[in-house]
Amino acid sequence: MLALAVCAAASADTEELDAKLSRLEQLARHQPAQAQSELQSLSSDLGSLDARKRLRFDLVELLIADSQYRPDDVLALSDRIRGAVADSGDARIGALVAHARAGAFYQLGRSDEALATVDQELIQARLTRQDDPVAQALVNRARFLMKRGDFEQACASIADAERHARGEQTAAEIAFSNAQLATAIGDESLALRSYQDAYDKFHAVGDRTGEADSQAGIGAAMNLLNHSAEAAEPLRRAIAAYREVGDREGEAIARDELARSQADMGELGPALAGNGEGMRALAQVHSPRRLAQLQIHRAELLVRLKRAGEAMPLIERARPVALEADLQMQVSLHRVTAEALAALGRYQSAFEEGEQEQAAQLSRTDQLVARQLAAQRGRLGSELLTHENSLLRSEADASQRALDEARRATRLRGITTGLAVLFILGAAFALWRQRVLLRRIARMAETDPLTGVPNRRQVIDLGQRLMMRCHQDGRPYAMLLLDLDGFKQINDRHGHAAGDKALCSVSQALRRSLRPGDHLGRYGGEEFAVILPDTGVDEAASVAERLRAAVASLEPDWAAGAGRLTLSGGIAFATAGRSDFSQLMVCADQALYRAKNAGRNRIEIAPA
Ligand code: GH3
Ligand code: MG
Ligand code: MG
Repeated sequence: MLALAVCAAASADTEELDAKLSRLEQLARHQPAQAQSELQSLSSDLGSLDARKRLRFDLVELLIADSQYRPDDVLALSDRIRGAVADSGDARIGALVAHARAGAFYQLGRSDEALATVDQELIQARLTRQDDPVAQALVNRARFLMKRGDFEQACASIADAERHARGEQTAAEIAFSNAQLATAIGDESLALRSYQDAYDKFHAVGDRTGEADSQAGIGAAMNLLNHSAEAAEPLRRAIAAYREVGDREGEAIARDELARSQADMGELGPALAGNGEGMRALAQVHSPRRLAQLQIHRAELLVRLKRAGEAMPLIERARPVALEADLQMQVSLHRVTAEALAALGRYQSAFEEGEQEQAAQLSRTDQLVARQLAAQRGRLGSELLTHENSLLRSEADASQRALDEARRATRLRGITTGLAVLFILGAAFALWRQRVLLRRIARMAETDPLTGVPNRRQVIDLGQRLMMRCHQDGRPYAMLLLDLDGFKQINDRHGHAAGDKALCSVSQALRRSLRPGDHLGRYGGEEFAVILPDTGVDEAASVAERLRAAVASLEPDWAAGAGRLTLSGGIAFATAGRSDFSQLMVCADQALYRAKNAGRNRIEIAPA
C-alpha cells in the first residue's frame, strides 16, 4: 500500500516536472533570463532525474543560451548532449538542438557549418511529421542563405516555410524573415511593414526576444526612411526588451541605432553617449562585425563633433573587419574615412577614399538590384512550384476521385449484379411458381373436380389432337361415349352425395379398365367419353364391353341399399369423311341413343 502511494506520488511528480520543462522550453525562447532563474530552482532535484528528464533539462539550458546569443555555450552544450539526443530518438528534440547549433554557427560566421546543420534540422523536423518544425527549419535556412547572399534560395525557403507554417510563433518568425529579406534587398518600406507585422505576431505569443528584434528592426527601417524622430520609441522599447531577456548584442545594436536617430536629429552628445553604452554592452559578447559597425558609427559621430583625430584610430581598428564584411559596411567605412581625412586636411587620401566609396556604392546598388531580382526569382520559382504542386495535387485528386468513382461503380455494379441475380432468381422463382400455378390452374381447368379425370373441354381438345395425328398417320381412331343408366334415381333415392360418390366409383372403375394410351374424360353429368387412338372397330368394341362389365360388376358402396349401376355406350370410328371430333361425337351420341333405346346396359357401334 505504501509502495503504491509512493509510486503514485512519484508519477504525479514526474508529470508535474514534465509540464514544468515544457513551459520552460517556451519561456527559454521568449524570456531566457526568467527561464534561467526558474531552471536553477529546478536543478536542486537534479540527481533524481532520469535520462530523458535530464536531456530535457539540458535542452532548456541550450535554448536559453541560444536566445541569449551565446554561440560558444550552445555549441559546447549541444556537443555534450549529442549522444543523449541520438539515444532519445526524439526528432523534435533533435530538430531543436540542430536549430540552436545552426544559429550558433551562424553567429560565429561559420556559414558552411550553419547550412549543413540547418539541413540536419530540416531532416529532424520532417521526421516529426509536423508542419511547424519544418517551417521553423525553413525559416532558419532562409536566414543563413540570406547571410550567404543566396537571395533566390532564401526567398524560396521563406515561401516554403509560409506554406508549412501553422502556429503563430512560426508565422511571426516568417514575418521577421521577410522583413530581414526586405532590408537586405534595400526595400525599407516593405521592411518596416514586415517588422511591424512580425512585432504584432511576436507580441501575440508573448515572445519578448522576437518583440525586441522586431522593435529594433522597426527603428532601423525608420532611420533609413529618414523618420528618425519616430525611430526613438521602438528602439527604446527594443533596448528594454533586450535587457530583460539578457541579449547584450541585441541591446548594443539597438543602442547604436538609437544613437543614429539622435544624431540625425542633431543630438550628437546623447548619440555619442548612446553609442558608448552600446560599445559597453558589446564588450561582453564576441561579435567583431558588430563592434566594427559601432566603431564606424562612433567615428562618424566624432567627425561631426569635429573630433576627427579621435575617429581615425577607431576607423583603423574597424577597417580589416569592415572590408571583409558586407558592401554596406564597406561603403560606410570609405565614407567616414574620406570625411575624417578631409577634416584632417588630407585631401588626396580623402579623394581616393571617396573614389572607393563610390565604387563600393555602385557595387552595393548592383548588389541590391541583383538581390531584388533573385528574391523575385525565388518567390516566383516557389510560386511556380506551388502552382505546379497544386496542379499535381489537383491531378492526383482527380485520379483519386476517378478511382473512388470506379470503386463506387464496381461496388454498384456488384450490388446491381447481386440485385440482378436476386431479381433473376426472384423472377425465375416467380416464373416457376407462376408456371406451377398456371399448370395447377390449367389442370384445374382441364380436370373434373369431382372425379379427377379430364373434363369435357380437355376431352374435346385431346380427342381432336389425337384424332388429327391418327388421321395424318392413317391409323385407326375410335371414341366411346358412355352414359350411366337411370342415374337420376340414385340422387332421388340416396341423395346427391351418394350420386357423387357413385360417379367417383364409376370413373375409377373405368380408369382401371383402360389400356395405356386410352384417355378417359367426364363429358357431362353422368356421361363419360373415352378416346381410343390406334384402335380399330373390334378392339374398340372389346374395350367398351370391358368398361361396361367393370361398372356393372361394381359393388354399390355409395349408398346403403343401393342397387348396382349399369351404363350404355356408343362407339364411333374415324373414317375418311369423319375427320372432325365433334362429328364423331354426334355419331357416338347417336349410337348411345340407340343403346338406350335398345334396353340400356349395352354398347352400340355407329355405322361407318
Ligand atoms: P337414362 O340416362 O338411363 O335415360 O336415365 P338417367 O336418370 O340417367 O337420365 P338423365 O340423363 O335424364 O339424368 C341424369 C341425372 O344425373 C340428372 C342429374 O341429377 C344427375 N346428375 C348429373 N350430374 C350429376 C352430378 O355431378 N352429381 C349427382 N349426384 N348427380 C348428377
Ligand atoms: Mg345422361
Ligand atoms: Mg343417364
